[in-house]
Amino acid sequence: MNVLFMGPPGSGKGTQSKLLCERFGMEHLSTGDILREAITNKTEVGMRAKSFMDKGEYVPDAVVIDLIKARLSSLAGKGFILDGFPRTVPQAQALDKVLIELSLALKGIFFFNVEKDILVNRLSARRTCRSCNRIMNAEQLSADPCSVTGSPCDFYQRNDDKPEVITKRIQVYQEQTTPVIDYYKTNSNFLTVDGTLPADQVFQIIVKKLN
Ligand code: AMP
Repeated sequence: MNVLFMGPPGSGKGTQSKLLCERFGMEHLSTGDILREAITNKTEVGMRAKSFMDKGEYVPDAVVIDLIKARLSSLAGKGFILDGFPRTVPQAQALDKVLIELSLALKGIFFFNVEKDILVNRLSARRTCRSCNRIMNAEQLSADPCSVTGSPCDFYQRNDDKPEVITKRIQVYQEQTTPVIDYYKTNSNFLTVDGTLPADQVFQIIVKKLN
């Protein structure tokens, strides 16, 4: 089963991806996570992407399209969740092409709808585990063991979750990603979800649509 999650930063895509992966054992393909890993590993792609990401801008289409193509080609039949890709119309067109080439289809295309004020509050309070990418509110950090290290999660505030970058990210999203929603809207597998609902309710809506 293959699924696409779309929505502004802070709309809950990452949280729902984790829940869906746990339930169905799918591969979580987050371009943001892949790029942050490349930055940590100081790869050429990472070095190129960092300056865009720190400013809240999008990384060039060609870079993320190549990353996703490579990941999709190596899945060997495992289902996947695309989280944060495609973010531009050329990325959506490239994805259509690669899905056809690999004889893959999307069973659900979910758009998480959340107003700007709520996004700003969520992103400012968001903390991310350096190892497993778990996302939590700064006020309610969990002491549960990290699924990667086994020690408590190592939560930090992403550079682009700092107030000066958040507004820019939301602006870039509105300019470049809103047209992608129109691109998918007429697809029979498309569903708009109220991303302000509690995470467990959002999850139930998603599972129901996929069943
Ligand atoms: P995210 O973790 O999804 O919020 O992504 C963090 C940052 O990574 C974004 O603000 C962009 O700079 C970059 N990024 C992630 N996915 C894409 C994409 N599909 N296209 C362009 N830039 C991306």
